[in-house]
Amino acid sequence: MDIKRAGSQASVRVVSDYFTGTVRQDPLNEAEAPGRVKVVSVTFEPGARTAWHTHPLGQTLIVTAGMGLAQTEGGPILEIRPGDVVWFPAGEKHWHGAGPSTAMTHIAIHEALEGRSADWMEPVSDAEYGAYSGG
Ligand code: MN
Repeated sequence: MDIKRAGSQASVRVVSDYFTGTVRQDPLNEAEAPGRVKVVSVTFEPGARTAWHTHPLGQTLIVTAGMGLAQTEGGPILEIRPGDVVWFPAGEKHWHGAGPSTAMTHIAIHEALEGRSADWMEPVSDAEYGAYSGG
C-alpha cells in the first residue's frame, strides 16, 4: 500500500498548446507497470478548457467543484457540476473545461495505451466555446 498524503504532491501549472486559459493539475496517482491508470485533479479557471481530443482507452471525469462544460463532437455543450460522472468512450472526440464565469475542478481517470492517454487536436475556438448559451 502507498498512501500519498494530502499536501505531498506539488500542483502543476499547465502550459500547453492543448489547453486554453489557466489550468492547474494536481497529480493524485499513477499506477506502476503493468498497471496503466492515471488519476489527476484538474482545475480550470473561468473560460479555460482543453483542446479537442480523444482518449485511446476512454476517460472518466468526476466533477468535484464549480460548474463546467463538456461537449462531444456534433453534440450540444452540456453543463457539468459536482457529483456528475462523465464517461467518454475510447476514440470519442470531445473537450471539457470551465464555464465562462465559473471555475471547475474534476478528477480525470484514464489509461495509457502504448504510453499515450490522449490524442490532441485543434483548440476549442472562442466561437465554439461561445456557442454555450448559459442555459
Ligand atoms: Mn478528455
